Parts: sequence; C-alpha cells; structure tokens
Amino acid sequence: MSISEKTPRWQQELANAIRNVDELYKRLNLKEIFSDNEECHVEKAQNKELISEAIRQFPVLVTESFLKRMTPADSSDPLLLQILPTIQEVDKIPGFGLDPVGDSRAIFAPGIMQKYQGRALMITLGQCAIHCRYCFRRKFPYQQSPKSLEQWEASLKKLQENPSIEEIILSGGDPLVLNDRRLGQLLEQLESISHLQRVRVHTRLPIVLPSRVTDELLKLFLYSRLQPIFVVHANHPNEIVDDCADALHQVVRAGIPVLNQAVLLRGINDTTETQAELCNRLINLGVIPYYLHQLDRVDGAAHFEVSPEAGIKMIEELKQLLPGYAVPKYVREIPGKPGKTELK
Ligand code: SF4
Repeated sequence: MSISEKTPRWQQELANAIRNVDELYKRLNLKEIFSDNEECHVEKAQNKELISEAIRQFPVLVTESFLKRMTPADSSDPLLLQILPTIQEVDKIPGFGLDPVGDSRAIFAPGIMQKYQGRALMITLGQCAIHCRYCFRRKFPYQQSPKSLEQWEASLKKLQENPSIEEIILSGGDPLVLNDRRLGQLLEQLESISHLQRVRVHTRLPIVLPSRVTDELLKLFLYSRLQPIFVVHANHPNEIVDDCADALHQVVRAGIPVLNQAVLLRGINDTTETQAELCNRLINLGVIPYYLHQLDRVDGAAHFEVSPEAGIKMIEELKQLLPGYAVPKYVREIPGKPGKTELK
C-alpha cells in the first residue's frame, strides 16, 4: 500500500500494522521471555523453527491500536494470546481440519456461499487488519474469490437470479478493509438487486482498527436502500476501551444495529467473570452480545478449545448475573445444518 498525506488515517495505520514477530516481542518487552530465556539451545532452535512454520502458515498481523491495549511484558495478556504465533499451531490434531464449517461445499458462485435460508455470504476480500490465530478461515483459499467489480459480475448475477435471498452478508477477511469508493460501488451493485433488503457487515475493524469508523463510512450505509446491520467481533473486555469504545458508540449513535460475536477461547475468555465483563461493556455501549461461538475446529487452533460442558456451565452462570438480552447464545456451527446449533 503506498501512503500519501491524502491517505485516510485508518489506511495509514493499517499499512503500519505490525507484521513481524520480533517487532511484536520488542514492542511488548517480551523478547527475553520468548527468545533469550531458554536454557537448552537445541530446544530453543527447534522452537524457533516451529514458530517460523506457524508464521509461514499464517503471518503475524496486529494494529497499533490493538497492541496499545496489551500489557507490556505480560506473556499471558488475553489480547496478545489471540495474535501470538505458538508452536502448538503446527501440531496435527485429529478432528481438526482445513474447512471446519463446510465453507467450500456452500459456495454457489465464486466468492458467494449460502448456508441458511434467505441469506447469502460474500467473501469480499481476503485481507484483515489482524490475524487471529484461532480464525476458522485461516486456511481459506481466498485467491479463488473474485477481486474486482468486473470479476464479481457473474456471481452477482447468480445472486440476482435467486429471489429467496433477502440478506447479503459482507464477510471475508474483513469487508471494511475495502476503501469507501470500492465499498460504495459494491453497495450500489447490491442495491440494484431488488429482492435484497438487508446488508449485514461482519467486521472486526471497529475493534482492532477503530479509526476505520468515519462519518463517510457510516453515511455509505445510512444512505443505502438496504438496512445495515454491523456484526463486530470482540472476545475480551480489555478490547472494549478507548478508541474502540468510541468507535462502537459512534456506529450505535448513527442508528445502525450493532451485534457482537465472540469465540470461546481457552485461557483468554473462558471464565464467567470475563464473559460478564465483556457483555456489560458491550451493552453499556448499546452493542448486543449476539453469539458466543464454540471454537471451529480448524488446523492450528486446537490449543484454544474449551469443552462444550464448561461453556454451557458458564452460560448458566451468566444468566444469573446479567439481564436476558445481555447473555449471548452459545452456539456451534455444524456443516450442513440449516442454522447455528445452540449448545445447552
Ligand atoms: S478478523 Fe475475522 S476473518 Fe480476520 S483473522 Fe480475525 S477472525 Fe479471521
């Protein structure tokens, strides 16, 4: 990405995001903890190799804004653990695979999939502003999705031919990595499909790159014929502070419904207290805790898994602490099912 003075702040911040593990260690004073403090040199070299392999499979990416919310020199910081490559990622664990939620068999046109009645999902692009190590699409073949509007033409035609679809979900990657001009063009194309009524945006940018939420961006959706719904993704209360809280507040104040989906992650947000604090922070900003997802079993993410029994117990405890609307549905996505399966 070339940067000029005219480049919007969010694009500059994205271009300057951290993409190197040594820089990440350095910035958080973790170098000694992870690199130099190993007594056995053979083990140290092996670990280094395994970390390099994990990074080769899924590179490091984190924004400055998200990094600032981490505690320096704390190797168990819950935000750090979401983005830190580890040696466990290269372990091959039975039951884990490349496409845990059956994305490939749901594709009905390049870049578009349909799993559920009335809704279709567009892989708008493969880029994100952060790489979450547990991501269920960390192995997704993004190169097979259309890139330019011209390339989208055939798939949008397929969408046009399916009048049962009322809601289009912009996903990715992260659809808000598209700049306003390209997003506007895409929205225009979607608005011309008469049976579409709603546009849902699945995005982590208001959380990890809050400067992406601008008046211009919000206007694109507010002036659209389609009813917008933002579904953001935050996992821990420490994410919902400062510029992130301001950005969420801005979207809510603009009148766009905002829902949150979180993933249940071992050692990160698997206590009732953490979940209660997350839900409280969200509802105080007007964001509805929508889903708590059981981890999708993608290769490289097994070490994040929490047992469904522990998750169900936590949700029962949450019900004692929070108003009903603040308790997320605890769900698992099972390929081929007509909707998410609630765990209870
Ligand atoms: S932002 Fe979403 S799509 Fe991107 S890596 Fe994280 S979970 Fe995956």
